[in-house]
Amino acid sequence: MSVMTPARTQNHTADYHQLTPLMRAEFDRVMQIADNTIDATEFNSLMASAAYAAGMPLPASGAIVRCACPHCWACGSIFDTDAPGLIEVEPTAYNLPRLQCPTCVDEHPVDPEQ
Ligand SMILES: [Zn+2]
Ligand SMILES: [Zn+2]
Repeated sequence: MSVMTPARTQNHTADYHQLTPLMRAEFDRVMQIADNTIDATEFNSLMASAAYAAGMPLPASGAIVRCACPHCWACGSIFDTDAPGLIEVEPTAYNLPRLQCPTCVDEHPVDPEQ
């Protein structure tokens, strides 16, 4: 007898453009508050709400962002800020890092030296 086990590799990314308009609005709303909050507890719960809106599990790092690629401003990739192979697009004074998703890094990486 074979036992059904949950897939070992969960999908830890989401595509903003695949979300419903309501979920996109909720994602944008909580991400903006999370970017600006100075309360760590609030930040954590906002990240959980953002992951829920994006339909993905909150990664162990506790933070997700949408791709900030300057080459394709419409990139909808949402991913773990601790995922391998990310490039920081620009430093930020806010909470959430500005990162390129792994696909964008493969196709047109920003030069951090610029
Ligand atoms: Zn991207
Ligand atoms: Zn890109």
